[in-house]
This record gives sequence, C-alpha cells and structure tokens, in this order.
Amino acid sequence: TEQLLKVEGLKKYFPIKSGIFGRVSNHVKAVDDISFSVKEGETLGIVGESGCGKSTTGRMLMRLLEPTEGKVTFDGQELTSLSSNDMRKARRDIQMVFQDPYASLNPRHTIEKILMEPLNVHNIGDPKERKQKVYEFLEIVGLSSYHAKRYPHQFSGGQRQRIGIARALMTNPKLIIADEPVSALDVSIQAQVLNLMQDLQKELKLTYIFIAHDLGVVRHISDRVGVMYLGNMAEMADTEDLYEKPLHPYTQALLTAVPVPDPAFEREEVVIKGDVPSPANPPSGCRFHTRCPFKMDICETTVPIFAEVEKGHSVACHLYEESRPQ
Ligand code: SF4
Ligand code: MG
Repeated sequence: TEQLLKVEGLKKYFPIKSGIFGRVSNHVKAVDDISFSVKEGETLGIVGESGCGKSTTGRMLMRLLEPTEGKVTFDGQELTSLSSNDMRKARRDIQMVFQDPYASLNPRHTIEKILMEPLNVHNIGDPKERKQKVYEFLEIVGLSSYHAKRYPHQFSGGQRQRIGIARALMTNPKLIIADEPVSALDVSIQAQVLNLMQDLQKELKLTYIFIAHDLGVVRHISDRVGVMYLGNMAEMADTEDLYEKPLHPYTQALLTAVPVPDPAFEREEVVIKGDVPSPANPPSGCRFHTRCPFKMDICETTVPIFAEVEKGHSVACHLYEESRPQ
C-alpha cells in the first residue's frame, strides 16, 4: 500500500508574550519535530496525555493551524506549500471529527443544513443531489431522513457524533482526522461509534488518524499507534507490538494503567511520578527524564533520536540506542 500522508519535521511553537511591550519572551513548544507517515486504508492512533501536542498535530495536518516548521505531504501534494485558496480545496479530501460534536454543530441550523454546508462550500452537486446525499449519509451513519429537519439539541450525544461523522463524510474524503471522537460519550455508546467508524472505513475505503488520551480506546481501531509526550513522538509501532512489547518507559507506564486482557502478556509495572512539565520550559535531553524510572546521565543532556529499533517499531530512548541497526 501507498503512503497517503507523510509528515516531516513538524513543529508548532506558540509565542509567549510578556511585559508591558508584549515582547515574545519564550515559546511553548507544543509540537517539536515529529515525523511519521500513514498508509492508505490504515488507522494510525495517536495517544498521549492532555497537552502532549496530539490535537495540535491533528490540526496542523490540514492547516487549521499553521505549522512553525515542517512539511506535510498528502496524496502526492505538499500541503504546507499550498496557497490558502488551494488548501481550502484540498480540505475536501481531509476532514476532521471533533470530540464535542455539540460545540461544532450550529445549534440554530437543522441537520439538513449542517450536512449540506460542506457540499455548498466545495460546490458538489446541484441542490437536488445535495439533498439526496444528505439523506443517504444520514442512513449510512445509522440515522434516517426523518431526522433531517431536526436541530442538534434534539439528539443524544452518540447521535450527535454520528451527525459529526456524517458531516465529515459529505465530501467523500480520503483521510479523516478524528480528535477524541468518543471521549465525551458513555462507554456503551463509545463502542457503537467505534464500530460505526470501522464499518465506514471498510465501506468507504477511508484512512484514519485517531487521536485519543486513552490507550484502551485506540487499541481495537488502530493498525499502528504513536505515543506522544510533551510535543515529541516517544514511540510508534504496530498495535500488537506496542501493546505487547512496549519499549519506551512512558508507554510502559501508560500501559500499566490499562487493564491487561490476557494475563499471558502481564508486564512488569512501570509507575511514573509527578506531573507533566510545562511545554514552555521542557526538560533538557529526553523530555521524559524528570519522570523516568530508568533515567541515566546521558538522558539529562542528550535528546534521544526517534528511530527504528525493530522493523516498524520506532522509539526515542537511550536505552535502545545499541539495539539499532547501524
Ligand atoms: Fe528514560 Fe532516558 Fe529513555 Fe528518556 S531516554 S525514556 S529518561 S531511559
Ligand atoms: Mg486535545
């Protein structure tokens, strides 16, 4: 399979202004030099605690937020060099699903109007075809044409997320970036929405980037998973490998907090102390060194390189530097 998306050296630094002249005194390094790619038809999960830069990354991929540095190539086109007008057109192929569909659905618009909007924006079909498409996609996400004239507040949380998904699908995108799409929903509803997303992926040949703070949620939907910490990618691997043989101490700690479904894969517990440091003033060397139970001297001074240790399994940690193919 082909690479649909390639991300190289992506950074987002937010200036912090201070003093009466509002001079830029520092930067929050929300995303600091991450690289990865996504194959056509796969689901890449991106996981990390709040503030790790995962949402910022998602928004930069479709330039809802301008990267400070780095290159994003999608379907052979370098998005980061497009004019804003061409970028608007490219967004037909990349759509986002948000955590809180209620906040992203205009409360004064009917569902029909909400779903019609992307078709108007991208000039897809005539009015009659647009209406048909709205009805068709309501069905596809498990609602019906009967819901078209209703307003967002008349739906449950799970139904609203179905509407958010339908809206993202209206332009027949290739890539969906879903940022915590089920985090606001009850656990029983989460499974329904995840199943729906998996069915839609098969049916419509979609590629997903699935962002979540919870390793448990992304496991079943992802082919590969990347773990972010303080603006860096700590580890990325095939889902099986990541959950059964986590290499980065941070991933190991996150997994310690997730119940193990199969005791054959019982891991040694890695418990981390303290809070996530501020991304305005990240620790030197390995950003995880202030919390890492395996910290060595080199960890305080030298940034570990994110690189492959085994085929398809990359990690940024000095513990594995020797096991890398030279
Ligand atoms: Fe821990 Fe050092 Fe590895 Fe960072 S580089 S995760 S501090 S062992
Ligand atoms: Mg977020």
